[in-house]
Amino acid sequence: MNFDRIDMEALEKELIALRREFHTCPEAGWTEFRTTARIIEELEKLGLPVQYGPEIHVREKMYGLPDDAALEACYARALEETNRKDLVEKMRGGYTGCLAMIEGELPGPTIGIRVDIDCNEVDESSSDLHKPAAEGFASLHKGLMHACGHDAHTAIGIGTAKILSAYRDKLHGKVLLVFQPGEEGLRGAASLTAAGHFSKCDYFLGAHVGILKNQEVGTIAVSAHGFLSSTKLDAVFHGVPAHAATPDEGKNALAAAATAALNLLAIPRHQQGPSRINVGTLHAGSGRNVIPEWASMSLETRGKNGEINAFMEESARRVLEASAAMYGCTCDIRFMGSAGSIDCDPALAHKVKRILADVDGVKKILEDVDFNGGEDVTTMMRDVQEHGGKATEMVIGMPLTAPHHNGFFDVSEEVIGLGARVFASIALEIDEA
Ligand SMILES: [Zn+2]
Repeated sequence: MNFDRIDMEALEKELIALRREFHTCPEAGWTEFRTTARIIEELEKLGLPVQYGPEIHVREKMYGLPDDAALEACYARALEETNRKDLVEKMRGGYTGCLAMIEGELPGPTIGIRVDIDCNEVDESSSDLHKPAAEGFASLHKGLMHACGHDAHTAIGIGTAKILSAYRDKLHGKVLLVFQPGEEGLRGAASLTAAGHFSKCDYFLGAHVGILKNQEVGTIAVSAHGFLSSTKLDAVFHGVPAHAATPDEGKNALAAAATAALNLLAIPRHQQGPSRINVGTLHAGSGRNVIPEWASMSLETRGKNGEINAFMEESARRVLEASAAMYGCTCDIRFMGSAGSIDCDPALAHKVKRILADVDGVKKILEDVDFNGGEDVTTMMRDVQEHGGKATEMVIGMPLTAPHHNGFFDVSEEVIGLGARVFASIALEIDEA
């Protein structure tokens, strides 16, 4: 398709500026207050109906919410950074993300398009070799960074809305645009899915930039496999404090947690396929001469399929409990998020492949690539499939300056306009369920 009703060059510049703005103000899962408000502002300019706030979520499915103090601190920061306090106020408590419906003028299917909007807990490089630092749009939020390209995803979603809004007379059916919070840690999709937003989608599309290593811009995979099943857990060890001179009066939570950490990494691997385990953080204790009363740990398990991940998760829970028991401590294990593996629908992938052949800027189309990671888009895709719809997750290739989740990560900004053209073309070309 060529979108001759739109000055695409100007739109691409505008989307790059938006991406840089999001990059400057990254917000982690369930705290994307400013980000969501900014998205809504752009969607409102197009006259689109936008749903946001508590009405789009199911509170008990909002996994891995930060504690109240952290939520309030981020909320206060967002109020400082926005001139749309009215929007931000409706999201207080973590109700971030939004949904927009674009109604076509022709009859046809409902197509869900999902982008994720949260950042990573990563310190951004300040090196002159890192473009956001060199060009003045690096993160202003210490310890937070868009290091997975979700700033680009957000801009792609807005770009898709802008293009489709100009072609509603050619659009069959409707497009549900999903700006999902909390992808990192696999936390956000369950709440939106439980609220029933996707059960009426005939088709559902997601995309991630850069997962294929060092492809030139213009390479797109129309489907992926190898989404690892994953579970995220927090564990808090409780002991008894005592003077270091009288250790027999204490119960050492630090020792319990350290024992757990090493033995978690020693869980035997499953014969049926790949698995992963990571202990990502470990904090403990209060002072040099005090038997540590507490320790907290964040960890995750992964597996090629649900069965292997369940084996890893059960093993991890056993190690945590047993390590606590060894030192006379107790351990609270908190479920923080999860996602399953999934199969993309080949019929939809084929349709997408045909459509992409005519999209400006697409140079090479791959059919089915190894995603080799977790993505909670799978939670939404599964829901669509269980209700009779078809779903696929695409990968938009680009050269990588550094791995995802690294302080030097950056996106090739040409993927933003390209991604918007890809989503918009698919939505405009699919005319029946
Ligand atoms: Zn990501």
